[in-house]
Amino acid sequence: MSFELAKEYLIKKDYGKALEIYDKMLSDGTASKNVIYLEMSKIYSSINDYDKALTYLFSLICDEKCENKNIVHFEIGKIYCMVNEYAKAVENLEKALEETNETGEMFLSVAILLIKTYKNVNKHDFAAELLEKIKNRFKSSLIDETVRDMDESIYQRFPGDYEFNGNYQDLINKYIKILEGIDYRNSHILCFLAQAYNFTGRYSDTVKLYESYKDKIRNNIFFKNKFLNEYEIAAHKIDLQSKPRNMMVVLSNRCNISCIMCLTSHCKWELPKEKLEEIINLFPYLEKIMWQGGEVLFLPYFKDILKHALIYPNMKQSLISNFQLADEEMIELIVKNNIELTISIDGVEKNTYETIRRGAKFDRLESNLELLKTLRTQIRNKMILNMNVVVMRENYHVLADFVEYAHKYKFDFICFMPMNFIPQNGVKKQKIIKEQQDIFSDIDMEELKIMSYQMLAANKKAREFGIRIESRLNTVDLTEDEIKRYESDRAIIGSYVKNKKEKISKIISDKYANMKDGAVPEYKKISSELELNKTSGGQPSLTPVADYKLLCHLPWFSLTLDFDGSVRPDCQCNIDKNIGDLEKYSIEELWNNEKMKYYRRCIIENNYDKLCSGNCISGKITEFHLKLL
Ligand code: SF4
Ligand code: SF4
Repeated sequence: MSFELAKEYLIKKDYGKALEIYDKMLSDGTASKNVIYLEMSKIYSSINDYDKALTYLFSLICDEKCENKNIVHFEIGKIYCMVNEYAKAVENLEKALEETNETGEMFLSVAILLIKTYKNVNKHDFAAELLEKIKNRFKSSLIDETVRDMDESIYQRFPGDYEFNGNYQDLINKYIKILEGIDYRNSHILCFLAQAYNFTGRYSDTVKLYESYKDKIRNNIFFKNKFLNEYEIAAHKIDLQSKPRNMMVVLSNRCNISCIMCLTSHCKWELPKEKLEEIINLFPYLEKIMWQGGEVLFLPYFKDILKHALIYPNMKQSLISNFQLADEEMIELIVKNNIELTISIDGVEKNTYETIRRGAKFDRLESNLELLKTLRTQIRNKMILNMNVVVMRENYHVLADFVEYAHKYKFDFICFMPMNFIPQNGVKKQKIIKEQQDIFSDIDMEELKIMSYQMLAANKKAREFGIRIESRLNTVDLTEDEIKRYESDRAIIGSYVKNKKEKISKIISDKYANMKDGAVPEYKKISSELELNKTSGGQPSLTPVADYKLLCHLPWFSLTLDFDGSVRPDCQCNIDKNIGDLEKYSIEELWNNEKMKYYRRCIIENNYDKLCSGNCISGKITEFHLKLL
């Protein structure tokens, strides 16, 4: 029995036999426990039994006689990376690095993995610092190549990474430095630099950059359009030569379920075939497209569209789904192709979930999430997973549980939004839902405080797990005593929620008992068009390029084709301020029509109060959303 024999079995992938040999060596005492445990952990790791692998490694960490703890920490770090537990991976890799000789090859291996892991937890500064250290210490063409790839990927994260919290000036300096060395990446870098200038409000620098490089940029319609578009934002153009770079498209309102708060199901909408062709013609220019329903996975043709769009390497796809109909092929397609996925989940236990998402099965959601998690772990790419939560009376008191749930299934981001959109004057069914669930229109102070406490708890957990949160909820500040009270006696929340629900049920049964049902209105349009007065819009702006930050860049690069055929720059724009009807106009006509130009003009002139949504103006919608893709 020997290591050689065990290795022979490993080459043949006969892991059971190799483990038997190591077991025997352990009981014979022919090799040290430290070495055997390390080897056994590698075997379990290679067959994806990470828990078992970690058991051996933790036992080594606890063993005072174990001499090579840096190697053990490195192995633990590798496993945590494989299962996407990046915070724990960082902790172990940092320990491994601390205890490793700074000139050896092992140091380089640990450092490279740590840099990649830092990027995963958005510690870009740490990654960049370590990168500089390696660059100065290790000189070989292979290392230079590795470092350059990582170097580039760090700096290229910015435009698509709306969570980038780094030092923008530093980033801009690095783009400029890369730009000085003429190479194939220049088109990317030029566009990123323009985007970084615009994001930071340095519009005059973008204009200068464009004028210097417009003839040098690669002859590729995607880059040419992107560079021109960033220039047109910076130059405050109103009538654009560039095409849209971002689209949100509702393909159909058909859905497999019937959520209590859903409005789209009352409005029959199918994207006309010729409109889909118009969208496909724009694919070469697009940087991002978001597909939405109804339920996109309910549409028999959706998989084909998704696959066709994959031909365009610069276009990122994302989709919103209730995830009930996701089969293995679809999940694999999403994961393998890094398609951003947003899943709507309004309850993290069966009863709440199925009460809100009528017709959906919690068990099916969970089994699909398990499969998604397994594939993401196996494929180990950077697919982004988001969760949308509509907050209402059914779930406002358990918001922190959504973060736990997100952590369990490796979500990257959660968006909490209020259920306050059911109209006051709907039919009986809608009125009842509004009364039962809408905690935002008619405020109960205790409910508001409980929700605010839950948001505090959710944010705390999210920081711990490295999950990003966007909250569109209006919360209130709580006193320390109030926080302590909710923290120390959870029953307070439970009994308040229960009593309030009973009270509401009683009101509803008294109030609506004799009211007729009425048919759900078959209205075609839910949104309405922006009204322009005779003096507004249309003319090119005379505003000189000024380096004050614009509120939003979306009307320059984005279009939302919504669930009743109406079009707006973004889904955040007010529903009664759309720019026109997709059935009457082509996308090209809408892109530069008077109403779209009015959006651009109002934003340039800082005169958007009557046009734009309060959520954008107040900062609830992040600047990343309003300016980056
Ligand atoms: S999944 Fe979306 S479209 Fe379908 S019923 Fe629910 S809210 Fe409406
Ligand atoms: S600020 Fe908001 S409402 Fe105004 S254009 Fe941008 S997304 Fe639309």
